[in-house]
Amino acid sequence: MLKRELLPIISARLTSRKKTGILYNMKIKIGFLAVLSIVISGCLSIQKNDLPVHSPEQALQKLKRGNEIYINSRRNNADISKRLRHDTANNGQRPYAVIVTCSDSRVPPEHIFTAGIGDLFVIRTAGNIVDNIALGSIEYGVKHLGAKIIMIMGHDHCGAIAAAMEGLVEGHITDIVREIQSGIEGAVDATEAERFNIAHNYRKARESIIVRELIELGEITIIQGKYDMYTGKADFIESAVH
Ligand SMILES: [Zn+2]
Repeated sequence: MLKRELLPIISARLTSRKKTGILYNMKIKIGFLAVLSIVISGCLSIQKNDLPVHSPEQALQKLKRGNEIYINSRRNNADISKRLRHDTANNGQRPYAVIVTCSDSRVPPEHIFTAGIGDLFVIRTAGNIVDNIALGSIEYGVKHLGAKIIMIMGHDHCGAIAAAMEGLVEGHITDIVREIQSGIEGAVDATEAERFNIAHNYRKARESIIVRELIELGEITIIQGKYDMYTGKADFIESAVH
């Protein structure tokens, strides 16, 4: 008697559990599909800057391509793998570009150009100054490492330029200020001073006999550039391409 009364109740509970189980499985499947679609769309949106570089012109195109990718990216998709780390450690580096830019933490060259391990030979000082030590690094980058392009890249909102315009005298910052002041004479505002400073350091890089010879041989090119920290865009001053 008791069993007969209990049977429908047990049956109903079992049915209910079964339904709950089906719903639960469905939820898992939907969740899994959602995650899968996010992963797939994420994979599809990954853009790599893997253009080949055999000439100065190709090096310029690769910098431009890297910057285009960077502007629309949330993270750097360049190759920083263990494989490449080991490969470059064992076999040496062949960077395609020498970048001279400011130490400003908002101006990270590897990100700006979607570059990975071994791509860029970077020289950074506050105010992207080309002194003899920087020039030695530039020469090494093009002569011994085979970089095809030198880019002297300043940026907007540069603290070093502001310090030079204010005439800040403090410790060794004074050395930076004096050097920048020598290149920005006559500038009416910060934007013009930033432009003058880039041009000044560009001219100094071109004073190198090694750099000039490689340009004349068509082995390398040297350009000026300015980075906009709001838009992420690097402007390439094309008239300077040889
Ligand atoms: Zn700066």
